[in-house]
Amino acid sequence: MISVSFFEQNYNSVTEYVGRFNEVDLFVKREDLIHPIISGNKFRKLKYNLLEAQKRENANILTFGGAYSNHIAATAEACHLLGIPSTGIIRGDELGRNLDNTLTNNPTLKLAHQKGMQLHFVSRTDFRLKEDMPIVKTIVDQKPSTFIIPEGGTNALAIKGCQEIMQKGDNFDFICSSVGTGGTLAGLIEASNASQHCIGFSALKGNFLEKEIASWTPKANWTLQTDYHFGGYAKVYSELIAFINSFQKKYSIPLDPIYTGKLFYGIFEMIEAGYFPKNTRILAVHTGGLQGIEGMNQVLEQKGLQTIDRS
Ligand SMILES: *Cc1c(COP(=O)(O)O)cnc(C)c1O
Repeated sequence: MISVSFFEQNYNSVTEYVGRFNEVDLFVKREDLIHPIISGNKFRKLKYNLLEAQKRENANILTFGGAYSNHIAATAEACHLLGIPSTGIIRGDELGRNLDNTLTNNPTLKLAHQKGMQLHFVSRTDFRLKEDMPIVKTIVDQKPSTFIIPEGGTNALAIKGCQEIMQKGDNFDFICSSVGTGGTLAGLIEASNASQHCIGFSALKGNFLEKEIASWTPKANWTLQTDYHFGGYAKVYSELIAFINSFQKKYSIPLDPIYTGKLFYGIFEMIEAGYFPKNTRILAVHTGGLQGIEGMNQVLEQKGLQTIDRS
């Protein structure tokens, strides 16, 4: 069994210079390099939750996610390495009807299963009940030491972990990150100083996230950019895929289609439009998510669309 500090000692994120564009300098924090599966912000979000769970006797981690969830993959892998049993409540009861078929065709769930995560598939209606789902009550009754982590991994401990994405001496004028639940952005805002500005690029449609983020931080030096969700969470357009492929060719940095692809697409368009003042330093946080590419490529292939090149 290994401890959480093992990850920190062995997998460090590095900051790379991408280049100078339209008189601003762009950097990327390669959180994707922390670990291939427990990658990017999912490691940051899990860290203090795992430490907390490890304090409990017979801890069992229970969490929630969609069929291609980076959070489910990261939790399964981390719990496996730490020797903590894990349970995943997955959205979509249809996936549970032919489990063999699901596990063969879905690389994320296959990995979670292989890492020993107990998978339970629930209807979309049930899934919305979150911790009040009947299945969750049953599991908690059976194992009172169950430690529940919300969908996407966002809670106060996660935000504490995300503050560690920023390091001493980081002197960027703008800090940009993709937004799902907003936990990562909240951590970045908390770690920033008043002269820095944080921009969250929403991967989802809608403005409901603004309130959510504000509930996690009292600071005001941030903006939510909602122009680059490309239609919503998992909807991707060929223009985005083409961008991801050309970015990977030019800079040797792989991007995922749900989060980081949209982030960089947006940053480049904003640079082009002159949003950032001359000679400012912009940091893009690469939050990982590369495990999702394989599953997304299967979907794109089935639709006869262009797929993402693998490095
Ligand atoms: C989960 C995830 C996000 C979103 O993080 P939130 O804290 O939920 O906003 C961003 N990027 C990647 C790659 C992710 O896996």
